[in-house]
Amino acid sequence: MAGVKRRDFLLQSAALLVAPLASGAPRAPLAPAARSAPHTSRLILLGTAGGPTPKTTRSGPSQIIVIGSRGYVIDCGDGVARQMMLAGVFGTLRHIFITHHHSDHNADYGNLLLLEWGTHLTTTVDTWGPPPLARMTKLFFEMNEPDLKVREKDEGRLPLKPLVHPHELHRGGSVMKDDLVTVTCAVVDHPLVPLAFAYRFDCPDRSIVFSGDTHRSENLIALAKGADVLVHESLYPPAVPAAEGSALFTHIVNSHTPVEEVGRIASEAGVKTLVLSHFVPSGNPVVTDEQWLAAARTHFSGNIVVGHDLLEI
Ligand SMILES: [Zn+2]
Ligand SMILES: [Zn+2]
Repeated sequence: MAGVKRRDFLLQSAALLVAPLASGAPRAPLAPAARSAPHTSRLILLGTAGGPTPKTTRSGPSQIIVIGSRGYVIDCGDGVARQMMLAGVFGTLRHIFITHHHSDHNADYGNLLLLEWGTHLTTTVDTWGPPPLARMTKLFFEMNEPDLKVREKDEGRLPLKPLVHPHELHRGGSVMKDDLVTVTCAVVDHPLVPLAFAYRFDCPDRSIVFSGDTHRSENLIALAKGADVLVHESLYPPAVPAAEGSALFTHIVNSHTPVEEVGRIASEAGVKTLVLSHFVPSGNPVVTDEQWLAAARTHFSGNIVVGHDLLEI
């Protein structure tokens, strides 16, 4: 099913429970000219697990919006470059937005830059996120200097460092604007992380909001007001993967949003489609798609998508 048609199908369904896009062999990367129509946004869930432990069922949290041949990556969980390759969008990288500095969201931030560059990157990439993004970027280049130097000489590549421009965000508000999208952010509630952001992308054809990791956040609800799509993290309280009373248990319940509450947030924000992602737990113990859907449905009557890796919306 082609991307646009698939999305129409999804948006027309009343209660959605859908399979990943990659139902068979992975798609080969597309030539830029062959990608989506100039003003049609593609939203692909690259990784939908929550938490730092690698999972067998889902990749680390990451999403990409692709408009034309331009890719906007939101978070860089473990394996993001390979997930982009599987989705056929490797090579579109133009911007990276990091919601917060937990390793499930930034573990492959530098690696994505390095691997895109080692393949074909010759143009600017702007990166956005909370401090110390600039220092992390600088240190990543230092750490990988042996590879960078050899490839520059051996393969005739342009130096990577001048291509990458990190921008640190300190508060909610305007992030960036180009001829295709306007990006705004809001500070969300994710203790003990000092600064965590949600992002809103107003694209030519629709608005898409990413919660990042957060407890229920009034700032997020304001940011997501009237959005077409809200991608929200999801916690299933009866199956918290930690011993009750442990530090990890306390972190999980204080820093994330129960999926029933996610439905209420979607309802209060008045979004059209709620996409569940960043699942905690992600496979152990198992929570079925039907259970996620039923819990989110308690307080939200709009479209609900239970996210899976490589699902395009
Ligand atoms: Zn997370
Ligand atoms: Zn987090």
